[in-house]
Amino acid sequence: MTLVRCSEVSRTFGHGDRAVVAVHGCSCAVEAGARIAITGPSGSGKSSLLHLLAGLERPTSGSVDWPEFGVDASARSRDIAVVFQGTSLLPALDVLENTALAAVLTGTDEAEATPRASVALAAVGLSGYAGQLADTLSGGQAQRVAVARAMTLRPRLILADEPTGQLDAETGVQVLDALLTAADETGAALVVTTHDPVIAGRLDERWAMDDGRLLVTARDGVA
Ligand code: ADP
Ligand code: MG
Repeated sequence: MTLVRCSEVSRTFGHGDRAVVAVHGCSCAVEAGARIAITGPSGSGKSSLLHLLAGLERPTSGSVDWPEFGVDASARSRDIAVVFQGTSLLPALDVLENTALAAVLTGTDEAEATPRASVALAAVGLSGYAGQLADTLSGGQAQRVAVARAMTLRPRLILADEPTGQLDAETGVQVLDALLTAADETGAALVVTTHDPVIAGRLDERWAMDDGRLLVTARDGVA
């Protein structure tokens, strides 16, 4: 079952002499249950491709389709959870409120979202932090809350942009473990951009980007 398919997708920023082709003729698909790492150097187009997969950016040419999800963007927002680069928590809300936020904003009753958020916090090992303000957390803890927030949405696809980029190796592994738990518990497919080969090695499938092009797709067990 294909969740999202890109056909000859390109994304250009700017015009004329200043045009930057961030993504160049990419064709790829994310299947249900997939665990994918998108690797590549800084500026190679990883974030741009992830935003196209999320429907946050429109392709300049080519097409992106979500055959299983609603046709309009608001319906898709319940199926696709995005964990953004850097922390995306609201400092004035406590950890539990931050965790429930995406589900509440996409129409889930607070009475339903809050217990779900508690379960998600437990899954990422942060039950004890529910009542704390978000800005009291460490970077790794904040990133795990962002993962719990994605999990609370009960999405069918989780897209995470360099979720371990600003963390030390050990904390990065904890965040990746949280993402894998979230994907396993919700049954969602998972796509993670990373320049860390250790993180990429933990996922089943690896897509390499270079200068906007998707070069190779390697899958464990397949040459
Ligand atoms: P990565 O995530 O691999 O570092 P990006 O997708 O962020 O790569 O960027 C790919 C290229 O597109 C870079 O040259 C970057 O400067 C450019 N780019 C990305 N987003 C924008 C934007 N909103 N406006 C202009 N250029 C952009
Ligand atoms: Mg990026």
